[in-house]
Amino acid sequence: MRTKHLSIVAATVLVAALIVGSLTALQAEAASVKTTMQSKGNQYGLTEKVREREQEHLQSPSRLWTKPLLPNLPLPPSLSEVELKIEAEGEAKNISRKAETSTSTATLTLDGKIQIWRNKGSIVVEGGSLTIGNKVYSIESGRGVFNTQTKKGVLIIQLKVVDEEGKAYLTVLQGRLEATEEAGIYNVSFKAQMLRVGQLYLLTLEGKLTTNTPLETYSINTLGGTWDHTTITVKVEDSPLAANYSSIVIKSVEDWNSTLHTFASKYSDYSYLSNISLKLTNSEDADVKIVFTDEGRFRIGGETQVSYKPNTNIFQNITVTVRVGPRYTDNIVYAVSLHELGHALGLGHTDVSEDLMYPILMRWALRGVELSTLDLYGVAQIFAWLPNGSVEGFTVPKLITLPSTIPYEAV
Ligand SMILES: [Zn+2]
Repeated sequence: MRTKHLSIVAATVLVAALIVGSLTALQAEAASVKTTMQSKGNQYGLTEKVREREQEHLQSPSRLWTKPLLPNLPLPPSLSEVELKIEAEGEAKNISRKAETSTSTATLTLDGKIQIWRNKGSIVVEGGSLTIGNKVYSIESGRGVFNTQTKKGVLIIQLKVVDEEGKAYLTVLQGRLEATEEAGIYNVSFKAQMLRVGQLYLLTLEGKLTTNTPLETYSINTLGGTWDHTTITVKVEDSPLAANYSSIVIKSVEDWNSTLHTFASKYSDYSYLSNISLKLTNSEDADVKIVFTDEGRFRIGGETQVSYKPNTNIFQNITVTVRVGPRYTDNIVYAVSLHELGHALGLGHTDVSEDLMYPILMRWALRGVELSTLDLYGVAQIFAWLPNGSVEGFTVPKLITLPSTIPYEAV
């Protein structure tokens, strides 16, 4: 019977993946995340599968609302909830076969909330009304999805519309979403949508979607751990293999330090970040060890193995492996090293493909990479225990979202 656990209670392996498939293509594979991260990853995966089905329903609405098509789904953790209001107006063209084609004015108001997970979200409509000509329909409920990237997005909302006689209908609005100059205000347009409310209408609506928090978000996962001290020692392997690459890796260590300082001085709320540094050492007791390998799968650029102090979320020691060889340029080794050090500071991956902490080394990264405000803000949150002086009782958020007060940019 195995009853004893050694000091390493959890190990997380994150892989910065890199494929150089051919002379013309640099592609990559998603990171593999083991142990504790894995189970959470599966949860997300499951939820997303359910959501795909949700979307299928939305795209093939039945004529009448018979039963709720969209059950309450399990939602991923760290979801942020935003209030939403839609006000739009336009026209409704009656194109029913039995009716004479006629056009009426139409207005739509919707109230609800959006549950956002990164740039995707689920819309829950709580009420509203739709007016077509002099007929007023109340909107009882609705569910929808949105996806917004680079300030443009799509909206699909399924509504339960009730007429004056209490008869309920199902309709689907599909629309576009576009950010305006003002944070939290979006132009929306619902075009050429068919709406069944006894009659068949072609609805064209334009208006505004207003939220109390902007929708486009820059988020990054964490490993869930933090360090309990601020000077994190780093030992770079000393070996013949390392000889050609250690200077590149040392530069990545120095660049983390200088950007921690730059961010701390620019955003005074996080001035405590200037106390955090990666300190090169020759000691075997270093917190972070960087080793090199020229073996294994070429597509994997780097790997970080994390261990925690027993029964805590406090990092104990971390090993970063950087893969090197003739096909790895200095820029690739630098990018992989900078990325893996992000893991060593507790960062996970982000969905933002232009970010260093994206799990795939993108083609742009071959020209050189920079740390972003998202990366630095992420580290600030991982070390948010610091102003209180003690890591005791501190929980690292699983997902960190850049506040709208900090622009997403290179540091
Ligand atoms: Zn990674």
